[in-house]
Amino acid sequence: MTAPRHDHRRLGREPALFDTDPLIGAGLPYWLPHGAAVRHALEEYIRAAERCAGYQHVYSPVLGKRELYEISGHWAHYSDDMFPPLDLGGEQVVLRPSLCPHHAVIYRSRARSYRELPLRMAELGGMYRSELSGVLGGLTRVRSIQLNDAHIFCTLDQVAGEAGAALEMVRGAYRALGIRAARYRLSLPGPGGKHVAAPDAWRRATALLTDVLDRSGLPYEKGEGEAAFYGPKIDVQVTDSAGRESTLSTVQVDFHQPERFDLHYIGADGARHRPVMVHRSIIGSVERAVAHLIEHHGGAFPAWLAPVQLAILPVSCDQQEQAEALARRCAGLGLRTEIAGPDRGSLGARIREGRLVPYQGVIGPKEAEAELAALRLRDGRRLDPLPAAEVLSRISALTDAHSTDLWDHGETPAGAAVPHA
Ligand SMILES: [Zn+2]
Repeated sequence: MTAPRHDHRRLGREPALFDTDPLIGAGLPYWLPHGAAVRHALEEYIRAAERCAGYQHVYSPVLGKRELYEISGHWAHYSDDMFPPLDLGGEQVVLRPSLCPHHAVIYRSRARSYRELPLRMAELGGMYRSELSGVLGGLTRVRSIQLNDAHIFCTLDQVAGEAGAALEMVRGAYRALGIRAARYRLSLPGPGGKHVAAPDAWRRATALLTDVLDRSGLPYEKGEGEAAFYGPKIDVQVTDSAGRESTLSTVQVDFHQPERFDLHYIGADGARHRPVMVHRSIIGSVERAVAHLIEHHGGAFPAWLAPVQLAILPVSCDQQEQAEALARRCAGLGLRTEIAGPDRGSLGARIREGRLVPYQGVIGPKEAEAELAALRLRDGRRLDPLPAAEVLSRISALTDAHSTDLWDHGETPAGAAVPHA
């Protein structure tokens, strides 16, 4: 069966972003250098946005004792999706199905004061899901997941503000990534679902999230049976090339796990109080986010995410030295480049080959002589030769700002009348 043109499994193989091997196993993709570059840029964007928003990052292990998940409720409500436990000398250890229990334990590891709240704990960490092999494919259904996760431990009064701020971060990230939410969903428990029984907590959490959505002015729908087992959530839905919908981002309110882990903080009154846990993910799993980005952009990523940001094209071997010097300057600025020299074909063929690359810098004899680069933008625009230093500083400024624009607004391109080929 051939995948549709914009299927990420096909597009991801073309610029060689990721692959799988039966020997590693189904649903366990590995990332090739270009895919790893995209993933790294995405993860760094998320970490920087989180640092800006007052999150603190932690690392926690991908394994935990079975008991940890018995306390969290995963064992009772979620074990169908978990890998069987490993027996280690009389102890059972589990590949984690989520990061929440580890974060709850980290919160509990020291006495907390109301002055520390809201305490925003973030991690881009691994988790595992025992998907059946029949449903595995590409990056969207995988058994090994890198989750952009965070838990905000806060007072009841702080929940709405934190959930609203998380939604704002989602909107900021979508702008930078050049993607759109298909719809917002308030995910509620359904009949017969595996949910913890605490009607009062569900009512309070649902009221809080409804209020956040109403105040955001975003249109949303209710989704019965879509809640997490421990609480309702706001899901941000995206659609793939075949029109299938999936959840990319989520904000959840949880009264259950703070209770189960007996979390508390000392209030201004000197007494012990129970915090609320807000679970939130801006881009969901890195795998699903990259799959969506590949499909949405047809492989033509925003420049800050592109595996190769600038292709350097010496017209002939005589400009090889200048091309290499330019590549070294790019590396110093953190820009990802590739030299496509005459050994790779005619200039026209090399330009076509690099059609997904945001910028192509052509260096002919004139440019080499005067340290210039004639820039071609992915959208077809061609600029007059500019000093190489200016080209690099303008590209850097756009990528540092996570802009989806290829060039500054108001810039008049030289037009199609300046062929360099
Ligand atoms: Zn969580």
